[in-house]
Amino acid sequence: MERKVFLDSASTTYVNAEVLQEMLPVFDTVYGNANSLHNFGRAANELLDKARDRVAKAINAKASEIYFTSGGTEANNWAIKGLVYANNLKGNHIITSQIEHDSVLETFKELEHEGFRVTYLPVDKNGIVNLANLMHVLSSNTILVSIMTANNEVGTIQHINAISKTVKEKGILFHTDAVQAFSNLKIDVKELNVDAMTLSSHKIYGPKGIGALYVKRGVKIKNLLIGGSQEFSKRAGTVNVPAAVGFGKAAELAIRDMKATNDKTKNLRDYFIRELKNHITGIHINGHPIQRLPHIANVSFDYIDGESIMLMLDLDGIAVSTGAACSSGDTKESHVLRAMGVPTELIKNTIRFSFTKRTTKEEINYVIEKLEVIVKKLRDISPLTKRIKKER
Ligand SMILES: *Cc1c(COP(=O)(O)O)cnc(C)c1O
Repeated sequence: MERKVFLDSASTTYVNAEVLQEMLPVFDTVYGNANSLHNFGRAANELLDKARDRVAKAINAKASEIYFTSGGTEANNWAIKGLVYANNLKGNHIITSQIEHDSVLETFKELEHEGFRVTYLPVDKNGIVNLANLMHVLSSNTILVSIMTANNEVGTIQHINAISKTVKEKGILFHTDAVQAFSNLKIDVKELNVDAMTLSSHKIYGPKGIGALYVKRGVKIKNLLIGGSQEFSKRAGTVNVPAAVGFGKAAELAIRDMKATNDKTKNLRDYFIRELKNHITGIHINGHPIQRLPHIANVSFDYIDGESIMLMLDLDGIAVSTGAACSSGDTKESHVLRAMGVPTELIKNTIRFSFTKRTTKEEINYVIEKLEVIVKKLRDISPLTKRIKKER
């Protein structure tokens, strides 16, 4: 029997059984359009309200501050463009970091083409944005700063409290992409004092195709989608109620089980790294040594290509990612590792292993066993290994 091991939870997760249970009746019993005024619509709308309450509660927001979207990508596009277009009379300078998700970076690039001045802040070798660097570039012309709470490739967690405080003290809008941090870190939008925050369901054991944008009450944001009056007239389009219900349940469970999940994935991750070091030489762990998400291990292997490792692991039924999962399929090098100053010859040699709630030690042992064989095989045929040996 062929084994299958999924070590790619930073790209997506399976749907939790309790989440699925709550979603099922919403497909064929409570299937009304939540915007309809008849009893079918009202029943769906009640479920939608409950889902909104649950997502709001998970980040200590008010339900009226949560807008459902089609996912993290839409929420990031909307947050950035919506806040900028609603405030473009106040200035034309906007700030982000070099290690953001593509849905943030590409949006900033588009605004740059439209004439906004963009600063892409650098990070240190651990992937941390330097607060002094940020303070240095803030000006009276700055209208928005968007920095992710935690990175999806290496797991590094930013000093998001301090960043937010600095930005808000100057009266500038602050948005954070918390897609990877949500469910791993305690997030309190009141404490953080952010103006907008992006969330997604399918990274926290909920269904795909649903996410949310938190927008602080009173903050002006221009619509991205126009049409009907859904989502407090801020995001037109019939809401995907089954998915929203699943997202709400997933958010509730994520907060309830946060400590247990974190302890479990961190233990597995640390066990994996220890075993890796015991069995394979010439490896480098990327990301902050302590200040990082518990479920991600980003590893570079001397002399051999990450894509080859990934494809060979796949033949053994093991799913991993070469850095940015969202851009796998193309072979673009990681802009995150580049910004962190990882040497060019190592950037392409990188694999991201990310662990799920149901990963087992036994699965990790299987992965290490296969990886040891694969790395040896690839290094034996690698022209780089040969050249280095000859030079010695
Ligand atoms: C996955 C991810 C997104 C995109 O979310 P989708 O719901 O897949 O569109 C955005 N930001 C980060 C950090 C992510 O990991």
